[in-house]
Amino acid sequence: MALIIDGKKVSSAVKEDVKKSVEELKKQGVNPCLAVIIVGNNPASRTYVNNKKKACEETGIISKEIALDEGTSTEQLLEIIEKLNLDRDVNGILCQLPVPGHIDESKVISAISPDKDVDAFHAVNVGKLLQGVQSFQPCTPAGIIKMLDYYNIGIEGKNCVIIGRSNIVGKPMSMLLLQKNGTVTIAHSKTKNLKEITKTADILVAAVGRANFVTADMVKDGAVVIDVGINRNEDGKLCGDVLFDEVEKKASYITPVPGGVGPMTVSMLLENTVTAAKIQNNLK
Ligand code: NAD
Repeated sequence: MALIIDGKKVSSAVKEDVKKSVEELKKQGVNPCLAVIIVGNNPASRTYVNNKKKACEETGIISKEIALDEGTSTEQLLEIIEKLNLDRDVNGILCQLPVPGHIDESKVISAISPDKDVDAFHAVNVGKLLQGVQSFQPCTPAGIIKMLDYYNIGIEGKNCVIIGRSNIVGKPMSMLLLQKNGTVTIAHSKTKNLKEITKTADILVAAVGRANFVTADMVKDGAVVIDVGINRNEDGKLCGDVLFDEVEKKASYITPVPGGVGPMTVSMLLENTVTAAKIQNNLK
């Protein structure tokens, strides 16, 4: 039986630290502020934005929401981002993705000033991550590292296998695990003999986006299993990429869905906003 990694508990601990940092910053006349842009009426995006706003409120970070019509053009959005880039009261900027199809997402990501790019998606921040000199940690992978640290799960020398190679999860996860001296393999949709690879993992990260994709026969005895997926099963219930009931019997540690990686992503965004406020004000 695996120990459950409690993402809500770790997330609360991170938020407590963020709250203290915000209080310290306020004493020094700095009021950390996160601007969140949402375009259109995607219900999932609305939920994510609301969660981010709520988390800001809990920790004393000012949240500024910019809600734009579905029909907003790329140029209009870029103009708004430029204003936020120049606004000294705004420390972090994020544009909730996905944006409607007619908007050029890559232009949007590139338009956000790297100093305010708290999602760490800008090419400058991706490059810094590759060099190991990042200011901002990409939120979901950073949240996973934080959870592993919290449970004293060592990474150095471990075989780490990530299923998924997206820019948001798989690739930056590989960089953070490498920085911690893990031996990293990235598997993806074209990988051959996936099971043979996943069975070598001491730490297995599933970021596929398919309900119950990882079954017990893919997992080594005693592995640490991190489930990034957010899916709905055939009953419409929220579930991850890992067949939890089966894998939990074999793993040493496992993250549940919900209550695992999800809460960590938001708290790391808050941490990045505090970091941005400190850097912009030359504070440690
Ligand atoms: P994505 O669709 O961009 O990437 C999925 C990856 O899975 C791809 O790289 C693909 O190569 C790989 N893949 C697909 N089929 C495969 C197969 N048969 N075998 C091996 N690999 C295969 O998705 P993403 O943005 O990386 O997100 C992955 C999941 O994580 C989604 O469910 C998403 O909702 C979730 N997610 C959760 C959080 C969180 O905070 N918990 C954050 C981001 C994403």
